[in-house]
Order: sequence, then C-alpha cells, then structure tokens
Amino acid sequence: NHRLLAARAPSAQVAGVVKADAYGLGAHQVAPALAAAGCRSFFVAQLGEALALEPHLPADAALYVLNGVLPGEERHYAEHRITPVLNDLDQIARWSELARRSARKLPAAVHFDTGMSRLGLTDREADQLAGDPARLDGLDLRLVMSHLVASEESDHPHNRLQFERFAAL
Ligand SMILES: *Cc1c(COP(=O)(O)O)cnc(C)c1O
Repeated sequence: NHRLLAARAPSAQVAGVVKADAYGLGAHQVAPALAAAGCRSFFVAQLGEALALEPHLPADAALYVLNGVLPGEERHYAEHRITPVLNDLDQIARWSELARRSARKLPAAVHFDTGMSRLGLTDREADQLAGDPARLDGLDLRLVMSHLVASEESDHPHNRLQFERFAAL
C-alpha cells in the first residue's frame, strides 16, 4: 500500500497512521513493514502509543502524536524524538514556553480544522495565530495538517471545500 500510494503521489510524502494498534492489525508489525517499504513518517493518537512504538522504528523516522501535548506530558516529548501535533492555542503556548525555558527549538506540527470538527485550530484560533505569529516562537514547525472528512470518496464535495480552506489558511 505504501509503495502504491507513494508512486501515485511522487511529490508528496506518504505517512503511515498506525494509531489504535494500527487499527487493530498490530502496530509493532505494521510500522516496521511500512518502514521497510520506505515510509519515514508515522502518526499515533497518544503519547503512550508513541513511547511503545518508538523502539520499533528506524532511527531516521519521524513520529507524530495526533492528540498533541497534554499538560504534564511535555517532558516526555522533549526527552524522546516524538513530535506533538498541536491542536489549539493552549497547546501551542505550552510547547512554545517549554522551548523558551529550555532555550532550544522544539519540533512541532500544527493541525487546522477545515471541517472534521474533532481536532485542530478553529478558524477563530487560526486568525489569532496569524495576527500574532510570535506564538510559534521556539518551535521548529515541521508540518501543517488537516484531516479529511470523506477522503475515501474522491468525488465528495467536502474534499474540494477542505482543500480550499486549507490553501487559504
Ligand atoms: C486518525 C486520524 C487520521 C487518520 O485518519 P483516518 O480517517 O483514520 O484515515 C488523520 N488525522 C487525524 C487528526 C486523525 O486523528
């Protein structure tokens, strides 16, 4: 699957989402198989999943946590090579503050909600961020992302709508 998708989208980086134990298939088997096929970016939902998966990934792989950094978890992210997906201004503030306190750049992804209405910065938060980009100080922004509502239906009107919102952001 990874090779097929990577060949179809040569200018894109194809990542593997292996949360919920790779959707019940076994993340410790699936992630190394994806890595052997060339996958170098992986996503899980929670920090605990990332800590358990990290030893099974190649050293040059990126590992992202979709739920982002919750209060009290900052230290674990900073000590491992795990990148939080920041979902609201509060998470951005706490991660940026840790970067300032420890005087080093911390890797981050930022998620914008373009229609899934589950995770990610709202339009209002996106405006606030655009008006005050210093909120991202200390962060090494690796990725901006959004979650498609109906990606499995290529003709679904939501896809274009979400793409346009994302491009505008
Ligand atoms: C789970 C998840 C994905 C992967 O989505 P599927 O709909 O399961 O393909 C992508 N983005 C976010 C934010 C997620 O939580």
